[in-house]
Amino acid sequence: MRAMPTPRATKTSTPRRFAVVGAGLAGISCARTLREAGHEVTLLEQSGTVGGRMTSRQSTFGSFDAGAQYFTVRDTRFQQALDTAPQSFRPWSANAVRVLDPLGRVAEASLPKPERHWVGTPSMDALPREWAEPLKAGGRVEFDTQVERIETDALDPKRWQLRTSGAGDALRVHPGFDAVLLAIPAPQAAALLERSRLAPAFVQKLRAVDIAPCWTLMLAFPQAVQPGLPHLGPQWNAALSTHHRIAWLARESSKPQRGAVERWTVQASPAWSTEHLGDDEQRVEAKLLKAFAEVTGIRARPNHTEVRRWRHAKTLAPLGQSHLWDAHIGLGACGDWCLGHRVENAFVSGLELALAAA
Ligand SMILES: Cc1cc2nc3c(=O)[nH]c(=O)nc-3n(C[C@H](O)[C@H](O)[C@H](O)COP(=O)(O)OP(=O)(O)OC[C@H]3O[C@@H](n4cnc5c(N)ncnc54)[C@H](O)[C@@H]3O)c2cc1C
Repeated sequence: MRAMPTPRATKTSTPRRFAVVGAGLAGISCARTLREAGHEVTLLEQSGTVGGRMTSRQSTFGSFDAGAQYFTVRDTRFQQALDTAPQSFRPWSANAVRVLDPLGRVAEASLPKPERHWVGTPSMDALPREWAEPLKAGGRVEFDTQVERIETDALDPKRWQLRTSGAGDALRVHPGFDAVLLAIPAPQAAALLERSRLAPAFVQKLRAVDIAPCWTLMLAFPQAVQPGLPHLGPQWNAALSTHHRIAWLARESSKPQRGAVERWTVQASPAWSTEHLGDDEQRVEAKLLKAFAEVTGIRARPNHTEVRRWRHAKTLAPLGQSHLWDAHIGLGACGDWCLGHRVENAFVSGLELALAAA
């Protein structure tokens, strides 16, 4: 496994102990960079897997990219890191992303600024999985571990300890960290610092970040796989939509290495998701299914439906700087929300925080 390029993180002569909270792409790029600089790093993740919002859902009919749909590459450091994991992603020829009018008619045949779209293979979580491998192999990833509180270490007041909950509500204390780096969405980082009665200046900045929720609907139509009838509905595979309920649709089965069964992922708009954040799943499913039929013309009943509520999905107002870091107290924060709402923003933010803290 090749090392990630770490432009300024030279090997340190005084290794320190870092806790990185959150195993999304920001946390992984941060943890790997620190580890490659010679530090001891523990990555703590509340769920049972890595990838965060680059997650994939498995179904009887194939996988769905439930969060990020594709990624683009503008930063050379991200490109260099991608070059270390060439098997984990492929270009996605979405036969051009369409822009639809509110009735589902194609208003633009491509995006105003077309860019190459890349997707993880065989599913979107392949890239974070690959990059997390050295951390997992070194036994440095704690899954099912939700950080509840950051406290002064009971035995060494110059260090931090983390109070966590886990599977079966097991409460644990993880002591002895020189620094704690939060790679979690800004509202969750703010809440954690508030619970810990720490860093009010950070909390103020984190509270100014605005991240919209996103209701996501996943649909499978196995009945569409028939000779001479390759797929249902429109000829395009992905579209930005201006329908009042739907902002994005993609034919999952058009992505490389995803299997042939016709599957769609539908993302509700930030405004609609915010308005319906508290609705129950059945109600959301019914409303989004109706909108999906209006936009695509597909009125067949799906054999598989699943909805997912993302409480913190897309950054509307970012922090405006790559990370937060206070060297004096050994606290930092990173995530896509520092710079924007894209996978690449998460990678760059995690990298920049690690370079600052190393
Ligand atoms: C529906 C949707 C569609 C998207 N589409 C695209 C797209 O097409 N292109 C694109 O580039 N980007 C897209 N994105 C954004 C992209 O997914 C994110 O930019 C990126 O994955 C964010 O990575 P991150 O590491 O900053 O945060 P996350 O991936 O959110 O990682 C944070 C991690 O922290 C964990 N965590 C949170 N709190 C705690 C705690 N207290 N203790 C322990 N662990 C904790 C979480 O479980 C999670 O694993 C989309 C996102 C969503 C939700």
